[in-house]
Amino acid sequence: NFSREQMQAMDAAHHLHPFTDHADLRAAGSRIITRADGPYVYDALGNEILDAMAGLWCVNAGYGRKELVDAATAQLEELPYYNSFFRCTTPTPALLADRLARIAPDHINQVFFGSSGSEANDTALRLVRHYWALEGRPEKNIVISRDWAYHGSTIAATSLGGMAAMHEQLYGAVPNIRHVMCPYAFELAEPGESDRDFGLRAAKAVEDAIVEAGPDNVAAFIGEPIQGAGGVKIPPASYWPEIQRICDRYDVLLMLDEVITGYGRTGEWFAAQSMDIAPDTITTAKGLTSGYQPLSALLVGDRIAKTLVDKGGEFYHGYTYSGHPVACAVALANLEIIEREGLIDRVREDTGPYLGEALTAGIGDHPLVGEVRTFGLLAGIEIVKDRDTRARFEPEGHAASVVRDHAIEGGLMMRAVMDTMILSPPLIWTRETIDTAVDRIRAALDKAAKDLR
Ligand code: PLP
Repeated sequence: NFSREQMQAMDAAHHLHPFTDHADLRAAGSRIITRADGPYVYDALGNEILDAMAGLWCVNAGYGRKELVDAATAQLEELPYYNSFFRCTTPTPALLADRLARIAPDHINQVFFGSSGSEANDTALRLVRHYWALEGRPEKNIVISRDWAYHGSTIAATSLGGMAAMHEQLYGAVPNIRHVMCPYAFELAEPGESDRDFGLRAAKAVEDAIVEAGPDNVAAFIGEPIQGAGGVKIPPASYWPEIQRICDRYDVLLMLDEVITGYGRTGEWFAAQSMDIAPDTITTAKGLTSGYQPLSALLVGDRIAKTLVDKGGEFYHGYTYSGHPVACAVALANLEIIEREGLIDRVREDTGPYLGEALTAGIGDHPLVGEVRTFGLLAGIEIVKDRDTRARFEPEGHAASVVRDHAIEGGLMMRAVMDTMILSPPLIWTRETIDTAVDRIRAALDKAAKDLR
């Protein structure tokens, strides 16, 4: 029974937060979220906030799901923990791996579990390099990634990522990772360049990097189907088919990071299916348990799995919590909810398209809005000073943070990445929830426009 002020004092005194300026935190005090239900979170002041971010892009099935609590409780009572090392398993990771193999693209039938997306990407990086070593080609070691990519916060995941600010604090990256441009048409397309041509040009940057490194030295290309934390950067339709062609041509493995896009957000189980991509690995986490338990699953395609099993011996890699029985029980119950309630079909056929229409109709003409883009239940809104020239306010990132603060004050949890506003709501949102969100965004934009004048 601590007061809000007491909790804030303890938090400021002792809690080091991820991705937080602590001077800022001490000055303003932390926002304490105390409970949640359906699409809403509630703070310690009792404010009800519509959560347009699904936590951190993860609470796909929404809050307050008793079935997930029951699944965790039952598993905790039966067997709270046992490991999956040394030929052991418990029932739930076995059942979950089988379930994932059935919902993944046909050529993907193996799963390696961890607790976070970062760990899964570390696993993926080690695995693709190990694959080529097992194939007798250890020199095929370079991984191509992209600017603005976010693949997590461990040293390997940060090295794979393309966030300049994170690299500045890396103090020694994992070697043999190269970055190329990302398909961000709003800022990078030339005047008059068609979407299709821009997508092909961005893909060509990958091909050029492979050729420059020498295809015999390149293990893999890694990318998020839609860059999430980088600002919901949705590539032109021409991009992924061309990337697939390039990877096939140079015998470079294709690694997709679907930590955000996985488990229904794009209107299929995986964006690989929405976009018809055939990756060798798919990194997943977040929506796998709707965030109710920490769990990641690296989905591994038959090509890599066959080599690992046929030639592998032991892969010296694993985490204490790989295949954690409670997390896997929750994931099974969560996938069951998503399927039973038809949440993915609803995103594909109804709420996904409606989100695009409603945002365009509601704020597309706002003086601060340079572009609205959506794919399934992911949206990016560009904040600009001048709609015609796309000039930004200064300093960079300030304007979107003003909009975000007004949105939260007005009852809508949104996020700003530099000058892009982001939405990634729970898949339970209805047309009515979307309408409410759009009204609140419009109100936040109006208030921000006054502040920024
Ligand atoms: N990959 C992507 C695309 C992500 O968005 C994230 C987290 O936001 C990660 C990896 C890292 O996942 P985690 O925070 O669970 O380590």
